[in-house]
Amino acid sequence: MPELPEVESVRAYIEAHAVGKRIEDVRLLLPRLVKNTTPEEFCRLLTGQTISAVSRKGKYLLLRCSGGPSLLVHLRMTGSLIYQEEYEEIRGQRIIFALNEGYILYRDVRTLGCLWLVPPEGPTGISGYDSLGPDGNSDKFTLSYLQEALQSSKRSVKSFLLDQTCVAGLGNIYADEALFLAGVRPQRRCCDISPDECRRLHEAIGVVLRQGLAHGGTTIRDFISGNGQEGSNQAFLQVYGKEGTPCPRCGHTIIYTKFAGRGTHYCPHCQV
Ligand SMILES: [Zn+2]
Repeated sequence: MPELPEVESVRAYIEAHAVGKRIEDVRLLLPRLVKNTTPEEFCRLLTGQTISAVSRKGKYLLLRCSGGPSLLVHLRMTGSLIYQEEYEEIRGQRIIFALNEGYILYRDVRTLGCLWLVPPEGPTGISGYDSLGPDGNSDKFTLSYLQEALQSSKRSVKSFLLDQTCVAGLGNIYADEALFLAGVRPQRRCCDISPDECRRLHEAIGVVLRQGLAHGGTTIRDFISGNGQEGSNQAFLQVYGKEGTPCPRCGHTIIYTKFAGRGTHYCPHCQV
């Protein structure tokens, strides 16, 4: 699933190509992707709107439209937005937005993505979006925020990091990488994490997200960023997908285990 750095690379790409352009026609090839309105309303309300900004919060993209509802998108597993100057059919295309110049294609091979029409300001009524915690790379994600949130939680730190209401933008890859960098085992209970470990974890979350952003995201399986260019962060991962290989820090074998319903990678020696 695209996480914060991957969604951000799509955002920047779509912003560069679509802001200021008018949606002249919408072809919704798979109506069930639209969650909070009818296919007819979706196409009618977006047609004629000008895209004024593209923002991101957590793993959500928001295409703001001047004068009408905004388009909220969650890419889930394999969703992406692709800009084309000339229309060309691509595998997995589900929605075609014809602009006054060029096209935006919503592509989604596994069709798990979600799109909503939302008010341009204030609560959207989409609970997953409205309840998002601070982005893991934002000024609002402070050390004291993390300390308080960890102290008041009895669950595992891995499931805490994946909970978008606690910290937004992390998924399996960046959560595993941050825990490795901090030297904290994913199974640890949040309230048992020491102030020093919390400091390391706070710093590690910022480091892995900034690294992912700098490399245009991580390309695994089906993720293709907006411009069709693959991110290169996979070359810099230390534990994710590295099961059975030596830990880059201590040489012990990286373990893969199912935990909290998700695959989890960690070093049993330097993560305590
Ligand atoms: Zn190690």
